[in-house]
Amino acid sequence: MSISPEHSNNPSRQYSPINELTSLIIRDYLEGTPVPEEVPVDDDAPRIAVPIPELYTPCSGYDIPRSDSFPRFAPSPIPGDFISKYSWWADIVELPWVLHEAVAIELIAAILNRNGVYLQNGGIWYAMDLWMALLSASGGGRSTILKVAKDVLTEAGYDKNLVKNSFWGSAPAMQEGLSNNTEGHFYFWGELSNVLKTFDSGLFIGAKEWFTDLYDNPTVPAAKVYRTGKKKKSATAPITFDHSPRINILAASSEAWFYDHLSDSDSFGGWLPRWVFVSAGENQRSVPRPIPHDPAMRSELAQQLRRIGQLKGQAQIPEEILKDYDLWYASEQERFKSHSRRDLAEPYFGRYRGIVLKLAVIYEASSMVIESEGMPIQVSWESWDRAKQKCAEWSGNLFEMLKTGMSSIGQWQKKFLDYVGQSREGVSQNDFTRAFQTVDPKIRETNLYTLIKSRQIHQLKRKTKGKPAQIYILEESCRGRCEQCGGNGEA
Ligand SMILES: [Zn+2]
Repeated sequence: MSISPEHSNNPSRQYSPINELTSLIIRDYLEGTPVPEEVPVDDDAPRIAVPIPELYTPCSGYDIPRSDSFPRFAPSPIPGDFISKYSWWADIVELPWVLHEAVAIELIAAILNRNGVYLQNGGIWYAMDLWMALLSASGGGRSTILKVAKDVLTEAGYDKNLVKNSFWGSAPAMQEGLSNNTEGHFYFWGELSNVLKTFDSGLFIGAKEWFTDLYDNPTVPAAKVYRTGKKKKSATAPITFDHSPRINILAASSEAWFYDHLSDSDSFGGWLPRWVFVSAGENQRSVPRPIPHDPAMRSELAQQLRRIGQLKGQAQIPEEILKDYDLWYASEQERFKSHSRRDLAEPYFGRYRGIVLKLAVIYEASSMVIESEGMPIQVSWESWDRAKQKCAEWSGNLFEMLKTGMSSIGQWQKKFLDYVGQSREGVSQNDFTRAFQTVDPKIRETNLYTLIKSRQIHQLKRKTKGKPAQIYILEESCRGRCEQCGGNGEA
């Protein structure tokens, strides 16, 4: 058995060769361990964790959990609470547990939405529409996250009547699908950029705008009439709607693919602000063989989802909480306004002010004791506090992303600035090139050039034995040393 570098998503973690003694210890250990017959070969499939023998000496830079008990990073579950229990239960792969938590929130949102749960903030009506994108560095784990969620839904009996196929061949096929089912549409998009590509294809002209307009929209869409020929027979039957479709989306994407497939209209249109972005950040650990998900706990989670499926109607938010919402609103509005990309940030606030209320309802559904069908949801202070906390986290992800201008180019420039900004003394040209050696040289050089031209990166020379080394440094760290700042140009 060899340990493949593909199993690590952490680019900073380099594999050093395992020394002979260590590999013998591993081999001896593994041979003495009963291995289940079906060893999945798929990188994303659940793998079996084995305790690491005490003798094992980790090679440098390669840490393996040494304890017999599998380390979880998700906090201990709150008794009776679905979201925290799900996060804890699912937290056995390398991706951070906050992604599982986001998934659990989306599962509840989809089920409440299916049941017509809504809330009213004065004159504004909110459905439980929630479009969520889980973004992570490229690497395995995302499809596992979605599969695990689907397994719970299936066990709870929501697979057929809620999870909908979205391999549409054309815009009419998409509209047809949305016109059919009154009980909600829950889409799982394993790679969001593929859907972005689909929406940009010729068969989907105008479809993304139409789809975008359905979000939190109580209006029944107008019938769509498509004529494909002159003769009556070849005309397609009109697509008629008798309800406003409710949509929940759980999408995953590699960050790089996501940015690469954004179009200009995405960045400035209404489509992106309807999304919640949950960033995975760095992997927290190395998990060569995760333990299997506990099936007994999955059954408990499925049962609780079925109970949550008894909740219906208008969710109530007490006046004292709404007063606190007023305060939250004023301060958040100011925060979004003061973002350096205010033009991009403000449309997102238009959604976040509703999302925080939806989250309060979702957290309440997650933790309340459900005694009977149609029991009303009454938001408590605990749920409202959790909602504010989560919203702050999600908007934190968003604010980082907005610094890219929500574009592929901006994403590279942000990465370059972050890299150069790691050190107050700057980084050498060699280190920079090495760090981004897999990036298309054209992208690397043109964006670096733009950052230098726009004076976000300054240049210094550092003396070496041979040719002086070129140093890139952030504007704020230059402190007048570079020639353009009037200095002697030396680091
Ligand atoms: Zn300077």
